[in-house]
Amino acid sequence: MALYVVMLGAPGSGKGTQAKRLSAAFHVPHISTGDMFRAMKADTSELARRVRAIMERGELVPDDLTIEMVRERLKQPDARAGAIFDGFPRTIEQANALDAMLEEMYGEQIDVALLLNVPEDEITRRILKRAEVEGRADDTEEVIHKRHQTYLEQTTPLIDYFSRQGKLVEVDGDRPIEVITEDLIAQIKSNL
Ligand code: AMP
Repeated sequence: MALYVVMLGAPGSGKGTQAKRLSAAFHVPHISTGDMFRAMKADTSELARRVRAIMERGELVPDDLTIEMVRERLKQPDARAGAIFDGFPRTIEQANALDAMLEEMYGEQIDVALLLNVPEDEITRRILKRAEVEGRADDTEEVIHKRHQTYLEQTTPLIDYFSRQGKLVEVDGDRPIEVITEDLIAQIKSNL
């Protein structure tokens, strides 16, 4: 049986870290649209230039482009077994498209949406630390703030979207990494 999981949470909530660990635990691919867009960085095309500019402003890449990129990724055979979606969907339109794609392509559905709850001051602390350690060029204080605003405005409606479908599970993300992973694994298993 396939397993499709959506990770929700603010930038800096730890969803990327947890998504990778869940991907390893359940042997399904980790699909991160942020990683896919970052991989375009060396690309000199006009499209790549536009994507880079949007990311540097902390805004969202247009839905049609993001959805097409995910559609192509889902066509790869490993995605037939399932996926841990990290950073996608980020808008209601993307969520509707994901539901439709899984249904059309594989006759499948999202099993569970996991929301990592982390207090805002802890989020800020983590992001600033990451910017320092990794020297991520997109992590200036202004962009961090804009990304958080974008999350509040465009992505938090998904909490309601999945809640209404009875698929939302909220987890305390302000705990040690391993403890959170164990909790998430247990939540996934109990929701299958
Ligand atoms: P992330 O690594 O998931 O925080 O993504 C980094 C940046 O890539 C975001 O701030 C957006 O500019 C862009 N991005 C990633 N995923 C999406 C998405 N699903 N829809 C639109 N833009 C996205």
